[in-house]
Amino acid sequence: CGIVGYIGTDKTRDVLLNGLEKLEYRGYDSAGIAMLNDEGVHLFKVKGRIQALRDKVDNDVQSTMGIGHTRWATHGEPSVENAHPHQSTSGRFTLVHNGVIENYYELRDAYLKDITLTSETDTEIVVQLIELVNNEEQDVMKTFRRVMGMLKGSYAIALIDKENPDMIYVSKNRSPLLVGLGEDFNLVASDAIATLKETNTYLEIEDGEVVLVKPAGVTIEKLDGTVVTREPYIVETDA
Ligand code: GLU
Repeated sequence: CGIVGYIGTDKTRDVLLNGLEKLEYRGYDSAGIAMLNDEGVHLFKVKGRIQALRDKVDNDVQSTMGIGHTRWATHGEPSVENAHPHQSTSGRFTLVHNGVIENYYELRDAYLKDITLTSETDTEIVVQLIELVNNEEQDVMKTFRRVMGMLKGSYAIALIDKENPDMIYVSKNRSPLLVGLGEDFNLVASDAIATLKETNTYLEIEDGEVVLVKPAGVTIEKLDGTVVTREPYIVETDA
């Protein structure tokens, strides 16, 4: 399973699909991407191979930001409905997740009794919770920190918000996720192997940090909002 996210130039579709292909070695049963542009979120999901996803993706969609996912099902069978990205009921928030949310049942029963879920995944609980909490907070970064603080288990998460198209929200706990830095773009990936064609400069994310990825820069914060500074490192390759 794996995650790729990209923001900055119109190469989004290629970076996402090529990146997911490079992550195939990690194993998966389904895959999907979401690309955001002026028309809204364009969502494509398949059960099966990345090649099937390539065939399904509309090549006419132009987009400068998006997220992609390969799924190794833990909650809910491999299917298009359970494939990521998952969306909140209003369609405002779109999210990919690797890992297992151990308290998803408790979260669902405590906060989401009135919400009609469209998948059997632990992941959908997270994106629905983000919409719910943001209705109260009216501040997506604050909401994101608050919801990440509610989760128990392992996760690498990337979130996009239709109303804030110039940023990707990212967080991790005990699942791998890196930020890749470029000249006119930035990206996220489970493994630098996925995106070495784009950049060899990466930033580590530590457990319990939330990261705001914009085309021109990256901000790392702790769950309490404290800003963290971190130097990037270079991935050396013989390839
Ligand atoms: N637990 C999530 C699911 O079953 C994510 C699995 C993964 O890591 O791909 O959808």
